[in-house]
Amino acid sequence: MADCIFCMIAKKEIPSNIVYEDDRIICFHDLEPQAPVHVLIIPKKHIASLDEVEEDDEELLGYLMTKVKKIAEDLELENGYRLVNNCGEDGMQTVKHLHFHLLGKRKLTWPPG
Ligand code: AMP
Ligand code: ZN
Repeated sequence: MADCIFCMIAKKEIPSNIVYEDDRIICFHDLEPQAPVHVLIIPKKHIASLDEVEEDDEELLGYLMTKVKKIAEDLELENGYRLVNNCGEDGMQTVKHLHFHLLGKRKLTWPPG
């Protein structure tokens, strides 16, 4: 989608620090890390948010979830991690392209703010 920053990252129209990529998903470092490891995992397909997911996306999102473990392993998050999705206004979503934050390498507090 034009004007979507994460679509631009997926198409390499703007640079990012890529951790993992295949034909369906891409994972790159967050510009403003909130933990020693903070990456974003996104489907290359433009889906605005978790609230915009359609039945046809079932396989893609299932696929993305199966890759979390591999990405966490590559980032040496053997002690654990957190996967976060911010959805919509109350969820404080700022980029309107579905993404999952993968955070680790520090003890994460609960509940989030
Ligand atoms: P959210 O608030 O859940 O929508 O998260 C958006 C995240 O994208 C924030 O953590 C930003 O720091 C991050 N972000 C925004 N632009 C970029 C970019 N060009 N490259 C990497 N991360 C970005
Ligand atoms: Zn997009």
